[in-house]
Amino acid sequence: MKKPICPNCGTDKVLPIVYGYPGPDLAAMARRGEVVLGGCVITGNDPTHACQKCGHRFKLPKDNG
Ligand SMILES: [Zn+2]
Repeated sequence: MKKPICPNCGTDKVLPIVYGYPGPDLAAMARRGEVVLGGCVITGNDPTHACQKCGHRFKLPKDNG
């Protein structure tokens, strides 16, 4: 599996963004810095990953189709 790379700064310090109301597990993961919470509002064109280095949020193209 390829690691996502930030298109802005090129780092692989990139976290997945999880949308929806976070349960206790997800909130704990966010506190540990394993995921980024995207909130409950979904527009249909939301970024899927967030860069930890520069803060850039971006949408990864699907590479399985
Ligand atoms: Zn970046």
